[in-house]
Amino acid sequence: MITEQDCLARDAADPLAAQRARFALPDGVIYLDGNSLGARPKAALQRAQEVLVAEWGDGLIRSWNTAGWYDLPIRLGSMLAPLIGAEGDEVAVTDSTSVNLFKVLAAALKMQESQPQRRLIVTERDNFPSDIYMAEGLLGWLERGYQLHLLDTWSDLPALLAGDSGAQVAVVMLTHVNYRTGRMLDMQTTTAQIHAAGALAIWDLAHSAGAVEVDLNGANADFAVGCTYKYLNGGPGAPAFIWVPARHHAQFSQPLTGWWTHRQPFAMQPAYAPAAGIRRALCGTQPVLSLALVECGLAMFGEVSMAALRAKSLALSSLFIELLAQHCARHPLELITPRAHAERGSQVTVMHPHGYAVMQALIARGVIGDYREPDGMRFGFTPLYTSYQDVWQAVMVLKDILDNQAYDVHAERSAVT
Ligand SMILES: *Cc1c(COP(=O)(O)O)cnc(C)c1O
Repeated sequence: MITEQDCLARDAADPLAAQRARFALPDGVIYLDGNSLGARPKAALQRAQEVLVAEWGDGLIRSWNTAGWYDLPIRLGSMLAPLIGAEGDEVAVTDSTSVNLFKVLAAALKMQESQPQRRLIVTERDNFPSDIYMAEGLLGWLERGYQLHLLDTWSDLPALLAGDSGAQVAVVMLTHVNYRTGRMLDMQTTTAQIHAAGALAIWDLAHSAGAVEVDLNGANADFAVGCTYKYLNGGPGAPAFIWVPARHHAQFSQPLTGWWTHRQPFAMQPAYAPAAGIRRALCGTQPVLSLALVECGLAMFGEVSMAALRAKSLALSSLFIELLAQHCARHPLELITPRAHAERGSQVTVMHPHGYAVMQALIARGVIGDYREPDGMRFGFTPLYTSYQDVWQAVMVLKDILDNQAYDVHAERSAVT
């Protein structure tokens, strides 16, 4: 039996415990949704004020040069790079994950153009819907007869690649940690299988960056994208990242060729010539206010090791799973997150027939997770600011709600669940 005392003892011995004080978390809230919108670093308030008052207000247009606004997407990319196993000049922070996925998918298809028999773009049915929609959107605009192939489960991929259709696959795009189940794929093995079939591998790291250790170059992946507003605490709607390895820079050609991708944007030439490096993955003028705040989240990751974060993340999610078994076993909860550490990201999802209503009841009592169709209650564990006692208290509130059926099955759905 795990007791509350055990949880408090683990907090007392936690080398990351001091990080929590660097976040502005409201009193009375147990925040288990940092996988959807990270908490606010306290430093972001001062940074926002600086950008608004000094850089924008006083610096005006001069700040593009004097405050480093122009280089911000690239500088932030180099801060983010070590978290995903990338080199400093291979990452840019820009645009949204959806838009960046569009760019890398288009670039990957371009690289495969010399092999017209490769018409299949493969992903899984359970991928984040925006990824599927963006692929469909792009393929709809291309003249060649590309086809999107949706795997019923990712585990069908090796057989597809090794079989007759393997030679028809141009690109496989997968999400490393599934948004719904929290299941993590083996990036190294899967990328090797994709390459063995002659296809290119695109990884979506929305639920990986800042949550689990990632080694893109170690896995020899081809392209990657991901969010900064989830585990990286960049702020609501903060710009996403895009990774293009140095070995692909020269061939990287994407269709959103705004002036910020030009070799000399201020030469103002009608003739297009792409920038040499990762700049060609941008598009147009960047949202400086949002970008500037991303730095506050990233700066914290520079001071702690990803290995320590990962170890605590697994300890938190394992504790949650154990406490659910200990206190809620008689309720119809179904764990859909893998128990194996190598297959688990930094969230736990449990299904309940009234998942939406139960989550609303939790939120009303200050335990904030979220809900994903069908029936899934998601709980995200963010080792920078989640404590072991948070996990204990969250399970106690859940137990109380379930034991007393203290939820409203007719709860109205909000726009964002
Ligand atoms: C959160 C998430 C996104 C979000 O994309 P946006 O363009 O930022 O809305 C994309 N892909 C995955 C896998 C996600 O989890």
